[in-house]
Amino acid sequence: MSTPEYDLIVIGAGPAGLTAGMYAARARMKVLLLEKAVPGGQIIVTDWIENYPGFPEGISGFDLGEKMKVQAENLGLEIKTAEVHSLELSEEIKTVHLKDSALTCKSLIIASGASPRKLNVGEDKFMGKGVSFCATCDAPFFKEKTVVAVGGGDTAVQEAVYLAKFAKKIYLVHRRDQLRAAKILQERAFANDKIEFVWDTVVTGMDGFFGVENVHVKNVKTEEEKTIAANGIFLWVGILPNNEFIKGTVETDDGGFIITDASMRTSVPGVFAAGDVRNTPLRQVSTAVGDGAIAALSAEHFIENMGS
Ligand code: NAP
Repeated sequence: MSTPEYDLIVIGAGPAGLTAGMYAARARMKVLLLEKAVPGGQIIVTDWIENYPGFPEGISGFDLGEKMKVQAENLGLEIKTAEVHSLELSEEIKTVHLKDSALTCKSLIIASGASPRKLNVGEDKFMGKGVSFCATCDAPFFKEKTVVAVGGGDTAVQEAVYLAKFAKKIYLVHRRDQLRAAKILQERAFANDKIEFVWDTVVTGMDGFFGVENVHVKNVKTEEEKTIAANGIFLWVGILPNNEFIKGTVETDDGGFIITDASMRTSVPGVFAAGDVRNTPLRQVSTAVGDGAIAALSAEHFIENMGS
């Protein structure tokens, strides 16, 4: 067996991956973290995080992501910008294929996170022309404008409240008559005069000349269809796992999220998963960080017992 280049490769530099990398570096493992975009993960487009312990006034998602990255690097973590294309996990030594090269390791932690789900109601045509998934990025473009926000989870409700700092009016369209979001977020949205809830309703399409001008909706109970005149639409209807490169390797649930046990072990020995990409009952920065720490410890134990 040839010697692999790394003890551990971590894929993804969100809170889960950065924590796993930091713990592995402190354990003096030869560890490399691969990230295809900007370190920090989904939180870097989150305006404000108020439920991550240790920051009593809250902290911007961008700052928290940056602090996690700097802390991990200070403790010896090597971070490389590269996109993973595929994995070869059938041998004891795992191979991670990048665009033009491959890296080998004894153990792997997949912490590739998740991305916003689309609705496929014409949003591709208006991407950057009124359609957005990110209030922190795009809200200032909708100053004093009317927008539609879609979804009833934490993201939709939290981001709609942020959007209300800019927009004149927000129609929050949700397919049921109850929100899924945390109660504290609901209270803020209900108290905001700029947010009008459109219950039991789904988006069926959108149109406009240069950009979005109209959003077409349908009430799922009455079947009534109507058009909301709006300059933009924000889609916050859940997330999909970033799992393109793992196809056919580790076991996933029906939604494509990686199945793990409490030690973050996947169906392949030596391969662990952490954070939003795994099948988990709660997706928070605090749970991602916990997953990352556990995954790093499990990887360390796995490597210690290799060949024994
Ligand atoms: P989510 O919790 O899965 O909520 C998605 C929302 O979109 C649900 O209300 C769902 O409706 C609706 N939806 C799904 N598919 C739809 C469709 N095809 N058409 C219309 N509506 C649809 O997703 P999320 O809000 O993006 O949150 C993702 C994870 O991140 C969650 O675990 C969340 O707790 C976490 N998060 C936490 C915070 C925070 O703690 N502050 C902030 C953001 C995100 P139903 O309710 O009817 O299913």
